[in-house]
Amino acid sequence: MDLRALLREIPDVPKPGILFFDITPLLGDGVAFRKAIDTFAERFADKGATKVVCAEARGFIFGAALAYKLGIGFVPVRKPGKLPWKTASVTYDLEYGTDTLCMHEDALLHGEKVLVIDDVLATGGTLTGMLQLMKNFEAEIVGIGILVELCFLNGRDKLNGLPLDSIIQIS
Ligand code: AMP
Repeated sequence: MDLRALLREIPDVPKPGILFFDITPLLGDGVAFRKAIDTFAERFADKGATKVVCAEARGFIFGAALAYKLGIGFVPVRKPGKLPWKTASVTYDLEYGTDTLCMHEDALLHGEKVLVIDDVLATGGTLTGMLQLMKNFEAEIVGIGILVELCFLNGRDKLNGLPLDSIIQIS
């Protein structure tokens, strides 16, 4: 099953000069979607993780299915104002400006083993923000799973050697 063939490349979205990798054709193919989740599960089943942590919105699609498959918990990371209980938050730098991510302050136990899952790794800004946020919980990151890694943007270099496993690499 060639998952790469199910990514639609759209030039100049969301702005001129950006090549957007649209995952919806892959999501719309039941065999391919299952293959993506099964691949994550095979890679991470033996890590002892008890939670999957994902940022909204596309990360939820893969993270929730993986959490179900592994029979472990799911933790949503969201933009400000979306989570109803007390939150921990982090504001991190983007290429232009900043962004803020929030997580419920009781979402993880101290030292809990977690998997971080996302759809696309581009510059790595979002992932770096999530990892910063999780420092509040002293969680142990036992795996980072990405469906599509845009290798030419070198997002991986921002992770200080944390293990990152991508299913599709775009060079
Ligand atoms: P980044 O923080 O730059 O790693 O990207 C954050 C999020 O934006 C990723 O998780 C994707 O959901 C989305 N994204 C950024 N660039 C692209 C792209 N070229 N194609 C598809 N999604 C992208």
